Amino acid sequence: MTTPPSSTQPAPSNFLRHIIEDDLAAGRVTQVVTRFPPEPNGYLHFGHAKSICLNFGLAERYQGVCHLRLDDTNPTKEDQEYVDAIESAVRWLGFNWGSHHYFASDYFEKLYSFGVSLIQAGHAYVDEQSADDIRSGRGTLTQPGRNSPFRDRAIDENLRLFQEMREGKHPDGSLVLRAKIDMASPNMNMRDPVLYRIRHAHHHRTGDAWCIYPLYDFAHPLSDAIEGISHSICTLEFEDHRPLYNWLVEKVAEAGHFNKAKLPQQYEFARLNLTYVVLSKRKLIELVDTGVVTGWDDPRMPSLVAARRRGYTPEGFRQFVEQSGVSKSDGWIDYTVLEDCMRNHLNEVAPRRVAVLDPLKLVIENLEADEVVDCEAPNHPQKPELGRRTMPLTRELYIEHEDFMVEPSKGFFRLQPGGRVRLKYGFVAEYVSHSIGEDGRVAEVRVSIFKDSQSGTPGADNYKVKGVIHWVSASQAHWAEVRLFDRLFKVAAPGARREGDAPELERDFKDDLNPNSLQLVRVPMEPSLKSAQAEDRFQFERHGYFVADLVDSQPDEPIFNRTVTLKDSWAKG
Ligand code: ATP
Ligand code: MG
Repeated sequence: MTTPPSSTQPAPSNFLRHIIEDDLAAGRVTQVVTRFPPEPNGYLHFGHAKSICLNFGLAERYQGVCHLRLDDTNPTKEDQEYVDAIESAVRWLGFNWGSHHYFASDYFEKLYSFGVSLIQAGHAYVDEQSADDIRSGRGTLTQPGRNSPFRDRAIDENLRLFQEMREGKHPDGSLVLRAKIDMASPNMNMRDPVLYRIRHAHHHRTGDAWCIYPLYDFAHPLSDAIEGISHSICTLEFEDHRPLYNWLVEKVAEAGHFNKAKLPQQYEFARLNLTYVVLSKRKLIELVDTGVVTGWDDPRMPSLVAARRRGYTPEGFRQFVEQSGVSKSDGWIDYTVLEDCMRNHLNEVAPRRVAVLDPLKLVIENLEADEVVDCEAPNHPQKPELGRRTMPLTRELYIEHEDFMVEPSKGFFRLQPGGRVRLKYGFVAEYVSHSIGEDGRVAEVRVSIFKDSQSGTPGADNYKVKGVIHWVSASQAHWAEVRLFDRLFKVAAPGARREGDAPELERDFKDDLNPNSLQLVRVPMEPSLKSAQAEDRFQFERHGYFVADLVDSQPDEPIFNRTVTLKDSWAKG
């Protein structure tokens, strides 16, 4: 992994659109068909969101279709749990595959017949060298490979052995089917790549029907061709596989299986690299398995199940993908770009509420203990159509500790000895006294209010106060658990080498975990929040956007996750 440059802001371009538009204009393609082809061996992460938004987004834009294809050709690592999670994540992002839901494993019979056709045309052979011999026989980047002694085996014998492989007559690793291309090709992928291997393993969908499984490089292009994919979009690391992709679809088309004029074309784009997270299923599985996080859906994880729990929105992801553009060269996107996209959307849709995260008791001396003043507050400052709500103001309130300073610093306009402050949506309050608790912190502040200063009433503005603070009624507050998250990793590129590292030092990305990424507090909030339903989103004024946790919230007992702060708190350092 390379160190991310300090700021990369790729221009939001999308060269894939140009390719598609040219293809449509020239009549090379009449219907755009894309696909999202995850392997069900883990949950989807933010990188996959990019691929999903691109594939489904392009299909939407050009009135085409996008297939959801589970690329389940590797039986030992795949599971139905992952299939379900993938489907639900794609749906959550707002995309719909309609009737186009496929599994590569549904093509096993067809793929096998393609193997047979390749053998018949002299394009594939069964090799019985050991895995080590195959590897060493491939040569290196500077040295050509050497032909397998089994390369020129007769077609009939290849057919018989391939069939025996399928019938389970040979143990794992004893035989493979290889393409017969060119052992001297400068592209290592073209040096007689392995197409099929024997694996006596149970498959989560096909059970024990098969004991040979196709490799990704074989199954993927041919699945694209079977489905009539027009534009097969993948990440840059597959650029070197493109010649093999083309070779396979052409050779199988020549054998009569596909229309040669309508073969899929592969296009590569730069994968999403995001600072402060890791985007690799293998590493994410490691975090789950070692118990660093509570699971794939731990709101600190960069997985889509976790994003949902965290309160990130599908609209935010779509905006993020649009804004970060599609490029041909690798770059890094700063995590704050994603957060800004979430803020933009949440600002639009999240009703405002009040919670006090660090409560300090405020006593209003000129209110009776049983007195309740209804204060009206808009649900959204710019959207009157979202209505208003009533907040009860009572003799005892909670305010934020930081909103009162015994010895105010310069520029501090909130409550202070001798001063006045406006209780938002309520009255102007004037300082009376305060007391200090055993811990040395202020324990209580006493004020009196000007009863003719209630917000929204005539004359209320005659009180010139600079500071406005938020509050909740102590007697009527609802107390709830709130989870405050910080970055899961404390460095931008977890696991990357840093300046001054000894040459032999190998960093483990887990050493870069932020030990303080989760803070739990139980805090008072507006009474109406008691009835928040799972996934309801709010802005808690001054504290950020919050969502009622999807998993742990109970009726009348919601738990709130902070999705994102109101401003980029990291930029302040
Ligand atoms: P990982 O590298 O995390 O294991 P993967 O690429 O092996 O992911 P797949 O299930 O094969 O996972 O991915 C499905 C699709 O998502 C592929 O087309 C892949 O190119 C794309 N994809 C994976 N990671 C990213 C990323 N960081 N940015 C953009 N697309 C990605
Ligand atoms: Mg993969």
